Amino acid sequence: MDADVIVVGGGTSGAVLAARLSERADRRVLLLEQGPDDTAYDASVLRPAAAGDVWAGTPFARPYPMTASAERTVQMVRGRVLGGTSAVNYLATLRGQPADYDAWAARGLPGWGWPDILATFRAMETDVDFGATALHGDAGPLRVRRSPEHERNEAHRAFLAGVRELGVPWSEDINDPRRLPGVGIFPLTVTENAEGTVERLTVSRAYLTDAVRARPNLTVLTGVTAARVDVEDGRATRVVAADGRAWAAPEIVVACGATGSPALLQRSGIGPKDLLDALGIPVVADLPGVGANLQDHLGIALLYRHPGGTPLRGGPVQPVWVGRTPDASSVDFHVLALPIGEPGPDGTHFSLVPFLLDVTGRGRVDATGTDPEAEPAVTMPRPTAHDLARLDWLLDRIAALEETAAFTALGVERVHPASDLRAPNAATTLADGGLISYGHLGGTCAMGPDGDPQAVLDPRCRVRGIKGLRVVDASTMPVLPAGNTYLGCAMLAERAARLI
Ligand SMILES: Cc1cc2nc3c(=O)[nH]c(=O)nc-3n(C[C@H](O)[C@H](O)[C@H](O)COP(=O)(O)OP(=O)(O)OC[C@H]3O[C@@H](n4cnc5c(N)ncnc54)[C@H](O)[C@@H]3O)c2cc1C
Repeated sequence: MDADVIVVGGGTSGAVLAARLSERADRRVLLLEQGPDDTAYDASVLRPAAAGDVWAGTPFARPYPMTASAERTVQMVRGRVLGGTSAVNYLATLRGQPADYDAWAARGLPGWGWPDILATFRAMETDVDFGATALHGDAGPLRVRRSPEHERNEAHRAFLAGVRELGVPWSEDINDPRRLPGVGIFPLTVTENAEGTVERLTVSRAYLTDAVRARPNLTVLTGVTAARVDVEDGRATRVVAADGRAWAAPEIVVACGATGSPALLQRSGIGPKDLLDALGIPVVADLPGVGANLQDHLGIALLYRHPGGTPLRGGPVQPVWVGRTPDASSVDFHVLALPIGEPGPDGTHFSLVPFLLDVTGRGRVDATGTDPEAEPAVTMPRPTAHDLARLDWLLDRIAALEETAAFTALGVERVHPASDLRAPNAATTLADGGLISYGHLGGTCAMGPDGDPQAVLDPRCRVRGIKGLRVVDASTMPVLPAGNTYLGCAMLAERAARLI
């Protein structure tokens, strides 16, 4: 079956693309997804507090290592199911800051500045707490909700009160740039099932509804791993699957995520010539930026034990402190208070994690051959001296938080690290032992202006030098927004669908 548009990858961005592109009845859309259909979701996907269970290994998530240093790898997961990583993530629904998107526009990417995209963010959501306002929407497919007070546990409450003791204001809405810096509750993309229980709302469930799936011009094929995209005379012509099947279309949109999309392009001969030569893949287009520029938000996990031994399991609630280090012009960190699913071997019950949201170090993604089932080699971004200095400042703030009346009253004991958070270069020492990833990988097929040698895509998400081929997902982002990335990926897809 051929199509007018093929979307490869039915994850966060791909599900939105397929839904929006098939709104035009005369356009035949084919969506190819590697994992199973979203009808296969079980409780591990749907229970918001069960994200850790999904990572631990289910048919819906694919684990892979990221190389942090010669001695250390960090385990990461990605979604491998219709809905993609929106089916296994922590559901936090943040947009990033106006300054982040204005910086995209200022790089020479017209149409991606804050005034352009705010309307898209509003149209995408049904915000059950705020309804329709200048910032929020009440008619979009993504149902967004903040957990009410009674769903918080004692660690959440102590965290919120302790951060306020540090002078950080309470923010009713951490998606409102005017209410930041602040401490508040993550909006989550959730729905309620027939019994009234809060459930994860994945992007595919929100966008690829039964009515959308019933469209005669939309075909969704799951269990299909794209091996490569064929290019003839400078035009992408067809997608070839691992099992040898192939589908042709004048427009092919790759949406395989921050690691999957660069790997698919590289397997197709589109990427850095040195890498392709080393792998013996004929060069179709020498684009050095494919797989380069890998960004992530990195942090340090601090683990605490509760003397009462109560496991502080989380409900669908996540308090967060959103702030700015002293020299930052915009938001550049989150501190999360996270439950730990099961008490650790040393009885740990919850963690505080400071995450930097504009890590200046960069990593990369490299295909390791032509095997479409093999995950690419992922080199995690390494923090620069500037990043480590800001992490040191954050560790000092966490030491101050531990000294607040609210936190002291909680009576917890930090077991990792046992060392003084205010010791000189504490962040460097802890980073060597284990920086953790927020899972916000992106930037590996970045949009950029004409003349930028690292730009893989033009501002309309078109692969430079190849006709009929686009990339739309986390890899498209030139610089990660200072927020969680899933909503940004869905926003990219909403806007790209209009460009196609
Ligand atoms: C553990 C974790 C927690 C996170 N928590 C949050 C959070 O709370 N809030 C937030 O905003 N963000 C969070 N994120 C990040 C966010 O979920 C991702 O940035 C976003 O979902 C990525 O969307 P995407 O469309 O780029 O890729 P994905 O959603 O990963 O979609 C890619 C799809 O392509 C498919 N695919 C890959 N290769 C192929 C192939 N060769 N052929 C066919 N199909 C293929 C995959 O199976 C997948 O379905 C988290 C990420 C992780 C890993």
